[in-house]
Amino acid sequence: MSNMADVIIVGAGVQGASLAFHLAQRGVKSIVLEKKFVGAGATGRSSGLVRMHYDVREDTQLAWASFQYFRNWKEIVGGDCGFTRTGFIQLVAPPDVETLKANVAAHQEIGVPVILIHADDVKRLAPSFATDDVALAAYEPESGYAMPSDTANALMNAARQKGAQLVQDCAVTGILADGKVKGVQTTQGEFLAPIIVNAAGAWAGKVNELVGLDLPYDTWRHDTMFVARPPQIGPSHPTVIDFANEMYFRPEGNLTLVGLEDGNPFGESPDNDTDHAKKGFVERGIDRICRRIPIMENGGLHSAHGGYDGITPDQHPLLGAAGPDGFYLDCGFSGTGFKTSPAVGLCMSELILDGKSKTVDLSIYRPQRFAQGKPIVGKHPYTSSTWH
Ligand SMILES: Cc1cc2nc3c(=O)[nH]c(=O)nc-3n(C[C@H](O)[C@H](O)[C@H](O)COP(=O)(O)OP(=O)(O)OC[C@H]3O[C@@H](n4cnc5c(N)ncnc54)[C@H](O)[C@@H]3O)c2cc1C
Repeated sequence: MSNMADVIIVGAGVQGASLAFHLAQRGVKSIVLEKKFVGAGATGRSSGLVRMHYDVREDTQLAWASFQYFRNWKEIVGGDCGFTRTGFIQLVAPPDVETLKANVAAHQEIGVPVILIHADDVKRLAPSFATDDVALAAYEPESGYAMPSDTANALMNAARQKGAQLVQDCAVTGILADGKVKGVQTTQGEFLAPIIVNAAGAWAGKVNELVGLDLPYDTWRHDTMFVARPPQIGPSHPTVIDFANEMYFRPEGNLTLVGLEDGNPFGESPDNDTDHAKKGFVERGIDRICRRIPIMENGGLHSAHGGYDGITPDQHPLLGAAGPDGFYLDCGFSGTGFKTSPAVGLCMSELILDGKSKTVDLSIYRPQRFAQGKPIVGKHPYTSSTWH
């Protein structure tokens, strides 16, 4: 095992793996240091929604560029990401109908396959859904979900085949720097590289502290549950974000995965128990899903658990150089960094190797934006929105 590389990546979540893959495609050797195992953080608990609906142009561009990977995974990456096309419906609260129209028009301009549909269309796509409150919805027929751990492992395996090195059970505990980064100290000794990328998810704030970088960064907890669907609903249903009920859901085999947009605490230790959902979550989740799918009352709880992601004040990632020379941030995905991970890895590799990302311009995500008083704001924001 070598301890020298061109780039050291801290964290083997889907983001660290995607960056390692794209660097390897350019012939650049990375060492990925992971304190547990691939996908041990947010990635392993991610709901895996793959869709393009956002209110920030660059978010949609990143999701759309990533979508080309998800639907052509074998050819581009190899292995399997578990992409399942279900169609995606974006439901909004009645005051947000005009905003929905504006966002859909913006997505169509980018080339995303999406149309506006009405309550009777939603009923045809999903006969079990209650649609009385639906005035208008957005429908992405190509979208769905993928398997986040499989996605991260496929990226990491492909990167390793092209020369990347993965070291698991290896926590980064210090960063060697004298104005420029030189390497890291870990629980398995020193590793050296002139470029270090912080892709440590909910733990990235701690890694920033190792170089004295003080950026606004917090942790965000999110619980999800799986419900066994009653057979009357049929073999599947679309993937849905339901702002009116502050919820999202998608099928997984005979189960339906449900997550809630509200009640996700900030500031907890990401080392807390994630094997169980917080008290009260399941009751709230069942109440919400039964509002949209009343017959789910005949369903049964399968399981529930949680996960932690890094979050920033504008709920957008920190992407770019900061701190000592050679130190880069690729973190803070704020609960929505799975679906964009292929393109973020590509763009970060362009930024690191070419000085600028050309696939999608990452400059709005620069870590300095808060100090500059320029947080990211949606062009057509919804009254209720947390993205997944
Ligand atoms: C429950 C849940 C559901 C979600 N659903 C969706 C969704 O449907 N769609 C979507 O797009 N996004 C979703 N997200 C968000 C998405 O999963 C995350 O944004 C994404 O997985 C972040 O990937 P990452 O690689 O940045 O972080 P992580 O996957 O957390 O990876 C960071 C890694 O760094 C390692 N690490 C930390 N500190 C150190 C250290 N000092 N040394 C070495 N290694 C270290 C950790 O062990 C971890 O493996 C969800 C998140 C959660 C929690």
